[in-house]
Amino acid sequence: MKAPDKANIRFNEFNLPVSTEFDDIYFNNEDGLAESRYVFLQHNDLPERWQTHSYSVFRIAESGFGTGLNFLASWALFAEHAPSTMRLHFVSFEKYPLAPADMARALQHFPELAAYAKVLINALPSPHAGCHRLQFDDGRVTLDLWYGDIHDQLPQWLPHATNTIDAWFLDGFAPDKNPQMWQPELYNAMAQSCREHGSFATFTAAGAVRRGLQEAGFAVAKVKGFGRKRDMLRGVVTTAQTQPAPHVHGTNGSATVPITIIGGGIAAACLAWSLCRRGFRVELLTTGLANGASGNAQGAVYPLLHAELSPLSEFFLGAFDHARQFYQQHSSFWHETGVVQLAFNATRQQRHDKIIASGIYHESLVRELDSAATQALWNALPAQPALLYPRAGWVPPEKLVQQLFAACGNELRVTTCAPITAMKLEREGWQLSAADGSHYHAHTVIVAAGAGSNALLAPWQLNFQNVRGQVTQVQATDVSSSCNLVVCYKGYFTPPTNGLHCVGATYAREHAGIEFDAQQQQPTNNADRTENLATLQDNLQQPWTAQLTAVSDRAALRHTTRDHLPACGWLTDNLGVLGGLGSRGFTSAPLCAEILVGQWLHEPLPLGASLLARLAPQRLQDVAT
Ligand code: SAM
Repeated sequence: MKAPDKANIRFNEFNLPVSTEFDDIYFNNEDGLAESRYVFLQHNDLPERWQTHSYSVFRIAESGFGTGLNFLASWALFAEHAPSTMRLHFVSFEKYPLAPADMARALQHFPELAAYAKVLINALPSPHAGCHRLQFDDGRVTLDLWYGDIHDQLPQWLPHATNTIDAWFLDGFAPDKNPQMWQPELYNAMAQSCREHGSFATFTAAGAVRRGLQEAGFAVAKVKGFGRKRDMLRGVVTTAQTQPAPHVHGTNGSATVPITIIGGGIAAACLAWSLCRRGFRVELLTTGLANGASGNAQGAVYPLLHAELSPLSEFFLGAFDHARQFYQQHSSFWHETGVVQLAFNATRQQRHDKIIASGIYHESLVRELDSAATQALWNALPAQPALLYPRAGWVPPEKLVQQLFAACGNELRVTTCAPITAMKLEREGWQLSAADGSHYHAHTVIVAAGAGSNALLAPWQLNFQNVRGQVTQVQATDVSSSCNLVVCYKGYFTPPTNGLHCVGATYAREHAGIEFDAQQQQPTNNADRTENLATLQDNLQQPWTAQLTAVSDRAALRHTTRDHLPACGWLTDNLGVLGGLGSRGFTSAPLCAEILVGQWLHEPLPLGASLLARLAPQRLQDVAT
């Protein structure tokens, strides 16, 4: 899928944004905010409906995110008027994302929204097609930005969004200036996505729009338009099915039965966070927090990109921006230092050239540097060209995982136990058996135990591989301590923390099959330490790399898949899997957790239907060993 073009806009004599492409305004010259409130909020009966809404989340969908004004007005109104237990999920489609500076300029006109606008602009993802999930207010407000033409994105979104939306903001430039958008396919998708009482409002009263909406299944009324405008349309869906009571939670959104997560690393932490934010109680069965592959001192967060838009690249476009914003918002441990990938040999150089030449990736995500520019980042780097991911960075995994679990508060109960090695479905739910002979019971289970998942999932014959990795910590020297970004080559070198750098990591495929102690830390060895230091020296060819002294090592098993995509999905109604995160767990876990929890609760999901199918754990049953 081609990256969306950026919005072509100019600012008029009132310093208000106008689309050059469509020759139309983004909002009213007189009072855009008042119009937004009148047309979209008031005519969807907000905030009144929030008081009587029978679900714990209210969902709004919008055609044309534009400057984000409607979203910000909704968020501000929600913060002021919605019951404190309710969440807001806002889904918006945008073909031509505004550059952050243009959005900031457009929104300057609304000082009362300034605090919200600042948070939004800071969180804006790189403008690649597909869904970008952002979360605000400690997870109470979710924004899914679907970049690309709405008609390309709807087929990816709708399969997981039927019967979910409470209100539609039918915006977009005027029908006569943008006829391609105002089509029956959009009206039909609107109706299909609505749950009962689902409503819409739009600024236009064009006959074709009214008829299209009626044919799709809305009862449509023409009402007085904003200001000097004569008419506008509003309506309610008549075709939505009454939604069956969600099987898992009561009307206040809290689960009657807790959900059990097996694991203690970043996958389990993100899952617990996503569930607790939705009001669910979580039982965590763990051999210890961050004691496996999530326990290193530092972990880089950056996307994995190919020169073609492969499923892997496409997944990481969504996952990376989400992870970045997630850590920024919900942790105190995000270090946005940038990540540089050196072209330390001709093959790497070619690969980098192809990635850039593909034209797929926006420069806010990745750009190519010549040798001088690489050295300008940090003068101890070699004179090698490189790729720079300016918005990437690193996290301290162990501390981060602990912080996320702590943020779950009273909704989370942690039980430290021997590794769970078998599970059996009984009438009452799952019986889970631990290596020391103890047993636990669970209604719904999510297996997120990294390398320790294999024993548990053995009956499903999912083809995961455990890959051992050893990281070496070295003492910072006068030269190395000025390292200010993550340096990737065949291995990686991190900025110092507490006077130490991480040099990683070896990659040794384990063929031993199922190990009961797979979650435990692995023994380290000198050969791997030597390999880590030698790779650094060979790839960088800098005198300072030979002067580093190793002080400690840590080894763990990565949980990997052949296709390098995570395994994220449900094997049965009450058995979920989040695994195979490989070396990129801190980049992919936050989005995967939202997907898995969203699938269980039948929420609109933050990834297109075709990619979701690629993540299903069942795909690993077919891979020959
Ligand atoms: N709701 C916006 C706000 O609060 O600022 C204003 C929307 S502006 C009037 C219309 C938006 O619709 C533009 O940003 C435009 O790029 C977008 N748009 C137009 N055609 C589209 C399409 N086919 N798919 C997705 N977005 C589209």
